[in-house]
Formats: sequence, structure tokens, C-alpha cells
Amino acid sequence: MWKKNIDGEEYFLTKSKYMNGIQCPRLLYKAVNMPDDIPPPDEATQFIFKQGNEVGEIARQKFPGGIRIQMFPWHTITKRTKTAINSLAEHVYEAGFLHDEVVVLVDVLRKLDGKTVDIIEVKQSTRQKDEHIPDLAIQKYVVEGNGFKVNKTFLMHLNRDYVHPGDGDAELLVMEDCTDEVNEHLATVPERLAEMRETCELNSPPRSEIGPHCTSPRECALMPECWARVPKPSIFNITGYRKKWELYEQGVVLLSDVPDGTKLSVSQQAFLDSYRIGQPIIDTQAIQNELGKMEKPIHFLDFETINWAVPKHEGMRSYMQVPFQWSLHTLEDGKLEHKEFLWDNQEDPRLQLTEKLLDALGDKGSIVVYSSFEKSRLNELADAFPEHRDRINAVIDRLWDQLEIFRNFYTDAAFGGSNSIKNVLPVLVPELSYKDLEIQQGGLAMATFAKFIEMKTGSEKEKIRDALLKYCERDTLAMVEIHRRLAEL
Ligand code: SF4
Repeated sequence: MWKKNIDGEEYFLTKSKYMNGIQCPRLLYKAVNMPDDIPPPDEATQFIFKQGNEVGEIARQKFPGGIRIQMFPWHTITKRTKTAINSLAEHVYEAGFLHDEVVVLVDVLRKLDGKTVDIIEVKQSTRQKDEHIPDLAIQKYVVEGNGFKVNKTFLMHLNRDYVHPGDGDAELLVMEDCTDEVNEHLATVPERLAEMRETCELNSPPRSEIGPHCTSPRECALMPECWARVPKPSIFNITGYRKKWELYEQGVVLLSDVPDGTKLSVSQQAFLDSYRIGQPIIDTQAIQNELGKMEKPIHFLDFETINWAVPKHEGMRSYMQVPFQWSLHTLEDGKLEHKEFLWDNQEDPRLQLTEKLLDALGDKGSIVVYSSFEKSRLNELADAFPEHRDRINAVIDRLWDQLEIFRNFYTDAAFGGSNSIKNVLPVLVPELSYKDLEIQQGGLAMATFAKFIEMKTGSEKEKIRDALLKYCERDTLAMVEIHRRLAEL
């Protein structure tokens, strides 16, 4: 049965399922009728949700004198909301309403006079996004369906100009009045709901065509299922090619079917050429020239970072990439050494991380990194600790970006259209991988670190420490082995 019940009334949609329906009918059908088909959020995504809860908590403090409606017991949520609205409280948080078989929870309901209210939706983004408008519109539709007049609809989001701990001018959260845009979408709600109802009543999921909606406004959890029929590699592996959906509309999916004369960038064309000839395209001379610019000893450096939505320490902004760990391999005369750093408590990791790194790097040798990520972090550390600026700038001058080799001089269709280290490594060094590790990607490392610093010392914490250290070490070891392969060309 796809309909459920709250306080004796049936509903089939929640706000999040309405948003699923805006994205794609198949996603909506599965969310409503076959929820077990939708993979649960992974740990990295759960960390994002947790950060959202933290932002919500801070937002509520901006509207004091409120009553929070607890989610459970769910089947009485609208009744408990009515009681809170009828109380003397000025605000009701997580206020639950049901109308036209749709349930919404309003982050902050601001009571004005009589039956007039404002709706405030709290988001952890640093700006208003298109997807926020239907989100607010469905709330307004349901709240007004309960006999209220909604005066204004606001979006409250993080302020990208805020620097912790704040100086009084910029606040962590800002409000935007979205009333006009919300009203525009509101006019379309009854028709959209009728369509969504029809979709949910089907006997089987609709076959939705893949399209740009699969990744916008967010990557759909059903991509592994729907995209399984797309061959690999395909036109979707041509990195940065903006007209791929136009090609797709013309029936072109296979790389071999891309018409001659299709306008591509130099690197996109090289990728296609590599696929067509079935081997990599390598400018050996240019690579040797670049390798020849290196000075010994050769260091290989990688940072792991965390981007807190709510900045935690002085000088931090929302979503700033804060380094908490580094791994450093050093290669000299064929001998490989390893050093590492991992912060393990809730204080600011940056000063100690910087000082230990500067000591470990010394003042000799090139420092191999993969992308400009480490350079950006080093610049931020120089801003945070001006007393170390000269030494950090000297380190920046020694950086040597391995990714640039794969951007400019080494193209292989086997990389699948991405030059990330996770794609390059299995092709160049198939015997080395991340598969034996507990942590296999940066998003999970970040989520794990967030848990790690909250843990008390003990064997569980040591297990996690080990997993974090091994992951970061593998990144720099991968760069070492890739370097060795390049040197053999
Ligand atoms: S992957 Fe694309 S087509 Fe499939 S359900 Fe998601 S949005 Fe729809």
C-alpha cells in the first residue's frame, strides 16, 4: 500500500518525495513504492546530513521562544503541531502539516497575527539554489491548505563571508526573501501533484530516460541501476564535453560513433584518439623534460581535509578545506622513507600540522603533489600563520604537479575520461590499489575523521587511526609508483 496515515488522514508524499518527483518520475515511484531499491546514504553522506542538523540547531537559536515538534511519534505530528501553534510560543520548529495527501515539516514557522505565518527553510548551502524554490513552494501549499495565510517565505543559509568567530558585521546565517519566486512555482503545484499521483499509481516504475536530471540538482541514488545500460566507455566519459546530451539526443552513445568533425578541446580529442587507436598517447620527450626539472630528494605529499559547514576555529569559513592529516614519502637514491601526521582531538589542527610538515620537508628537493589542492591549502595556512609565511612560500615554490603530466602529455582512454589518481593508478600500476583498505576515498576519510576526534582513547580509536593513516599513505605511495612508471618511459 503506497499511502500512509497520520492522525487519521492519508498521505502519499512527503516534501523530500515531492523533490524526488521534481527530479524524475522513476525516482519518485521507487521512493514511494519500492523504497528498498534506493541505496541508503553512505557514511560520507550521513556526515553531510549531520552537518545539516548542526546548522538547523543554530538557526533555531535565531528564533527564540519556540517549541520543537519531535519527529516521533510520527503518526501524531500534525496534532502536536496544532497544539504548539495554539500555545503562546512565537515560533514552532519542525512544524508538521498535512494537506492534499502531502506532509511537510517546516523548519521554522514564525507566528504573526491570527492565522498569518512566515515560513523559514534552513539550508546548509552558502547560497540560494534553484531547488530551494519548489522545496519552499510545497511547504507554502500545504500550510495554506491548513487555513493559514503565509505572509513570506524565507531561505536561511550559511554566509560565505562569515569568518569564525565573527566580528559582529557578518553573521553565520543569512536570510533571503524568496516569496516572489516561491509564488511563481506555487501556481504549478496542483498540476505537478496530479502528475505525481498518477505516477505513483502505476503498476510498475516508469522507464525514465537518463538525462541531465540524473545529476541535477543532485546525483540520483538510482544511477547505478539506470545507467547500467550505458556502455563503458561512452560519450559521457569525455570530460567537460558540454554538448554530450545533444549527441545523445542524436543517438550517439559509443565513442566510436562520435561524428568526425565534432568540436572538442585538445584533451578531449586526445582521449577520443586514444580510444580509437586502442593505446595511450604519450609525449615521452615532454614528460622527460618535466621530470628533468625535479630536484632531489623527491618528496610526495598529500593532505586530507575536512570541510565543516559550521566553522570550528578562528579564521575558518564555512566549507573551508581544513587539513588534518598529511602523508609524505621521500625518495632518494632509490630509497623510500615515509613520514606522516594525523590530528586526533577537537582543537585546531592547523598550526601543529604546518610546523611538523615544514620540519619534515626541510629545504631541499621537489615536492610532488597531485592537482593544485595542496598548493591552495598551503596558501591558506600561510594566511592563517603569517609567522610561517616565508617558509610555506618556499615550499610552494618547490611543488611539482603530477596531474599536469596526465593533463598535457599522457592520455589514455583506459583512464575512463578522468585523470584522478584513482583512475590513473589501476592502469599504470595495476598491482597497487585501494581495495584492501577500509577507507578508499576522501569523503569517507573526512567523515571518519569527524568521528575519530570525538572518540575517547581506546582500541576502537586506534583502529580508526590506523585506517586513516593507511589511506593517506596509499595516496602518496600511489604517486611514488606512478612517478617510477613515468621515469621508465
Ligand atoms: S538515474 Fe536518472 S533516470 Fe534513473 S531514476 Fe535517477 S534521475 Fe531518473
